[in-house]
Amino acid sequence: MVPRLKSTSSRCSAAEPLAAAPPAAGAPPPSAPGLAPVTQLPGVGPAVAAALERLGIRCVQDLWFHLPLRYEDRTRLTPIGALRIGMNCQVEGVVQAVERGFRGRPQLRVVIADGSGALLTLRFFHFSRGQAQQLAAGLRLRCFGEIRHGFHGPEIVHPQYQRLAPGAEVVLEDRLTPVYPTTEGLGQRRLVVLVAHALECLPDDAALEVLPAALRKPLGLDSLREALLLVHRPPPGADTAALTAGRHPAQQRLAFEELLAHHLSLRRLRQQVRAFAAPALRGDGALRARLLAGLPFALTGAQERVAAEIVADLARPQAMLRLVQGDVGSGKTVVAALAALAAVEAGWQVALAAPTELLAEQHWQLLRSWLEPLGIEPVWLAGKVLGRARERALAAIAAAAPLTVGTHALMQEGVRFPRLGLAIIDEQHRFGVHQRLSLGEKGRAAGTLPHQLVLTATPIPRTLAMSAYADLDVSVIDELPPGRSAVTTVAIPDTRRAEVIARIRAACADGRQVYWVCTLIEESEQLAAQAAEVVFAELTQALPGCAVGLVHGRLKPAAKQATMDAFKAGALRVLVATTVIEVGVDVPNASLMVIENAERLGLAQLHQLRGRVGRGSTASSCVLLYQAPLSQAARERLKVMRETADGFRIAEKDLELRGPGEVLGTRQTGQLAFRVADLARDADLLPAVQQAADTMLRDHPQEAGRLVGRWIGSAVRYAAA
Ligand code: ADP
Ligand code: MG
Repeated sequence: MVPRLKSTSSRCSAAEPLAAAPPAAGAPPPSAPGLAPVTQLPGVGPAVAAALERLGIRCVQDLWFHLPLRYEDRTRLTPIGALRIGMNCQVEGVVQAVERGFRGRPQLRVVIADGSGALLTLRFFHFSRGQAQQLAAGLRLRCFGEIRHGFHGPEIVHPQYQRLAPGAEVVLEDRLTPVYPTTEGLGQRRLVVLVAHALECLPDDAALEVLPAALRKPLGLDSLREALLLVHRPPPGADTAALTAGRHPAQQRLAFEELLAHHLSLRRLRQQVRAFAAPALRGDGALRARLLAGLPFALTGAQERVAAEIVADLARPQAMLRLVQGDVGSGKTVVAALAALAAVEAGWQVALAAPTELLAEQHWQLLRSWLEPLGIEPVWLAGKVLGRARERALAAIAAAAPLTVGTHALMQEGVRFPRLGLAIIDEQHRFGVHQRLSLGEKGRAAGTLPHQLVLTATPIPRTLAMSAYADLDVSVIDELPPGRSAVTTVAIPDTRRAEVIARIRAACADGRQVYWVCTLIEESEQLAAQAAEVVFAELTQALPGCAVGLVHGRLKPAAKQATMDAFKAGALRVLVATTVIEVGVDVPNASLMVIENAERLGLAQLHQLRGRVGRGSTASSCVLLYQAPLSQAARERLKVMRETADGFRIAEKDLELRGPGEVLGTRQTGQLAFRVADLARDADLLPAVQQAADTMLRDHPQEAGRLVGRWIGSAVRYAAA
């Protein structure tokens, strides 16, 4: 069945943003059905379209390339007696007992049996009253989920389940079930239907293929159309093991294309930027020498080396694109300040942008304390700077103020830098590539492109860096300043919460300060905020002599700032927060970090959070509070955290355990969230990818554009260069 498109008049405008030449008027390109907006598919109204947009899906073609994250095998039932820990299994059984209880928090336990002699526990922490009432003894259930090691044998936490009517015959699936990335307001089932509709419009290979034959043949890449159809709906006989492992030839074929598309997009970006002249910033070093003389510490060797690399880049008449990578607390800010002064010495402007207002303001205050003695008054510009203050800031920038610090507000329309020589961006993974570029665009008025410096605390293993940052040169600050206290890390089950609270009481009595970070399984700031409010109430009650504060993403910026200021000033002893504090907060007196539901966080995030303590000279500790039972992967993560504080080792481990999208922390921005490729698994494809990229950029630039548009998705728009 071919779904009828509602109309064929409009085309998805930004579908292939980098395509070199627009199609001739009146002659739709061969891939036109792919460029039709999703709203032309049956059942896509404004609400669904908005949800799809959040997934980066605008055109029919974006659905073709919205690939399953993984598969679930519901083609068979596993007897309870044969279940293995860590497997995802489908089980059918009859409810034997239902128990509601409290072990730290409300939960529901449902025990089922299937006649194999063993029992399986289904455990729910979030459930409705209706749900609890429906699950009565004698009911037949079919359920699916990851088997964990439970107190009384195997169990599944939050299984997907289906109630089976007595006597009804329920057939098994005859093929693997794809699981797609989803978003709030758009469930799996809906997506499956939408993808099926979109696939009905999939053209034949001749129209679909963009890789030149000369490139495909030697690599043994076969039909793109077949590969897409296979991964979306694996036929009954398909190699289940290979598909589950992501090693099926169809997946590898797609992974190759995806890696190539990512690589090309970054290389093109770099080409575009490099084609521009940049001012050669050759300062005399006087301001830098004065800054260094005034600091209470000497630079580490790594800081000196990286600063020298940057200064050398700045002196060239070509735009610098350099990433400075350094673990939490490695001292990136002073390196950024030195870079800024090199530009200022040469008579140019510098803009420094941070991803949150909190972090930006912290930078501004620190830079003020360093630079005011040198006669430089940094300008502050954020979204909350309004009215007269904003006019003053804009006027100062227009009058070539040497240094401006702020949030992405710096990148907005109406902010004009007449002589922008250097743009510095902190914690770049929170910004998209295109935002990074648009700050660069600010320098265009001067007829040149500014140099760009990107700072990130995310340690990135080398293979990953090559791919993720193919558009940047990389410097590494691989040394921490001397005199840091090590952070002792322990993992404690939530059942011993009272002990942890006693520890907080003792730390406060000692004049020290404490962070308590709340996290939830869903990446929903709303739910996390609710959880934080509950903990805030709990701690306020349990610690009467101790001022407790609360900060989460749903508070107004002013309220957040006031709480942070009070914590920094020591007026608040305990700060309950969601992961909004993950980035860059610096309170040296804080020496205890409690991370709740630590089993749910990835290593990179745990490492970032832990980096908030151990900044002063007092011995610091980190408590990873977890809910038993732990999955195998969670146990391993907590073990890594207890054993090492080395960001690079943690990143390597993380890559091994979770895959690159997560390691880079790019899920928030969607940047580098691969659909099929997995850099850890597919690293062997990278050399061929780089070669293919060379060929395509040289001989097939237009196809390169189409490939990027199709894989990076139409929601990403790069600033036109
Ligand atoms: P990050 O790399 O996480 O941004 P910061 O730049 O915030 O780190 O530095 C963390 C702390 O270390 C700051 O208080 C800073 O002043 C201090 N610091 C930076 N470099 C040195 C150094 N070479 N010796 C001692 N302390 C330093
Ligand atoms: Mg920093």
